Amino acid sequence: KKVLVIGGVAGGATFASQLRMLDEEAEIIVFEKDGTMSFANCGMPYYLGGFVEKREHLIAATPESFQEKKKIEVRIRHEVIRINRSEKTVTIKDHIKDVTYDESYDKLVYSPGAVPVVPDIKHLDRGNCYSLRSFKDMLKLDEHITKRNYQSVCLVGGGFIGLEMAENMKARGMKVHLVQRSSHVLNLLEPDFSQVLEKELIDHDVDLHLSATVEQINEDRSLKLSDGTEIEADFLLLAVGIKPNKHLAEAAGLSIGITGGVRVNEYMQTDDPDIYAIGDVIESFDFITGKPKQVPLAWVAHREAYVAARHITDDPVAFKGILGTAICKVFEQSAAVVGHSGSSLRKMEIPFETAELTSKQHAGYYPGASSLSLMVHFCPDSGTIYGAQAVGQGADKRIDVISTAINGGLSVLDLQTLEIAYAPPYSAPKDPVNMIGYKAV
Ligand code: FAD
Repeated sequence: KKVLVIGGVAGGATFASQLRMLDEEAEIIVFEKDGTMSFANCGMPYYLGGFVEKREHLIAATPESFQEKKKIEVRIRHEVIRINRSEKTVTIKDHIKDVTYDESYDKLVYSPGAVPVVPDIKHLDRGNCYSLRSFKDMLKLDEHITKRNYQSVCLVGGGFIGLEMAENMKARGMKVHLVQRSSHVLNLLEPDFSQVLEKELIDHDVDLHLSATVEQINEDRSLKLSDGTEIEADFLLLAVGIKPNKHLAEAAGLSIGITGGVRVNEYMQTDDPDIYAIGDVIESFDFITGKPKQVPLAWVAHREAYVAARHITDDPVAFKGILGTAICKVFEQSAAVVGHSGSSLRKMEIPFETAELTSKQHAGYYPGASSLSLMVHFCPDSGTIYGAQAVGQGADKRIDVISTAINGGLSVLDLQTLEIAYAPPYSAPKDPVNMIGYKAV
């Protein structure tokens, strides 16, 4: 079997490794248009902030290590420029030799990721504007910060990347502005929970501009915000979201779903049974409602890679859907979510009840006790858990436990019965997760 893979990072490289584990004989060739494969996208903000000392620490594998350890060929600086479905070939531009050639496949796996959305800012070309998606983006930004002696940044967008970069740019000694279009940062959080993060940002001297956008870059390179404020920043980091990098699939006539991602079935097959798609480029479905959903996160890409590999080796396991479990560190605070927020449930007109509490993340008498808020939305009749959010230290553990509970079909009352590890530095004899179960009665 000859399997070609488009994209050599989270989805693509993981798929190739999984397939090799399941099939020792398959011929596997990965095409990666950039010069670096298998790097940790998620670690890039922390490299820029100096928490990760060496860029090499972000690289999990190289073409040489893949060849040697896994017998997988990775062709870097090789960009797939066309999928020729009727011939079952792809056309590749080799940027090293500057030649174009075709390669045939039995199965094709498409994992080209996403591209950053560029916000509508007047005179964008006047500014020093960056996005953070590829390893190249990271190296360029790192070099410019040093060589051009940047002292201040305007982060455009208060989602995961904007928030992580706020902490990391502060760690690099910068003046940080964060401009967020909506009235709260990380707007998938309940407003009260977002406010905890906003206070944390302000306490760490981040200039927060909520309900505002960058309207234009003035001639003197200062920035005019939509609320009339003028700010100075040496550069802008654009982090307002991403869109699926789907042009090859579109050109090949593969179906696109209503959320804009490539449509796949629960085995990651597109509507061409020999072409699979995984990662940020696809439309998957919601674990709870079964409705189409797009969640551009690493767990999702890794799981989809496994599901595709199992299907290709004729030992299928179906994807169960996405809960959208996610977490973000903002200085000393953490915010984590799983499943649906109240506003998402209201939008879908799904009736729900909410249990919430604020307590300490561990025994109050043990040093370092701080506030942890937890909220769970559930079905009033069946107790089905629709979603949960937590903010504060220890948010990770609580949301992961609740994610597991949802996955296992537990109800909100079952949360009472979970036996959670306790010693004073970690929890309380009744963990906040248990307490939510008692409160939900
Ligand atoms: P990618 O990992 O982006 O890989 C796609 C690759 O395909 C790219 O290297 C691209 O060059 C290549 N490619 C594209 N087109 C072609 C072509 N035509 N031919 C050949 N190669 C091509 N997720 C989390 O869960 N937690 C986090 O903390 C987190 N932090 C993140 C921080 C940052 C800064 C970024 C950018 C992302 C973060 N993510 C995080 C998201 C996560 O990295 C992505 O969901 C994941 O990488 C998606 O995998 P993918 O394979 O779809 O895309």
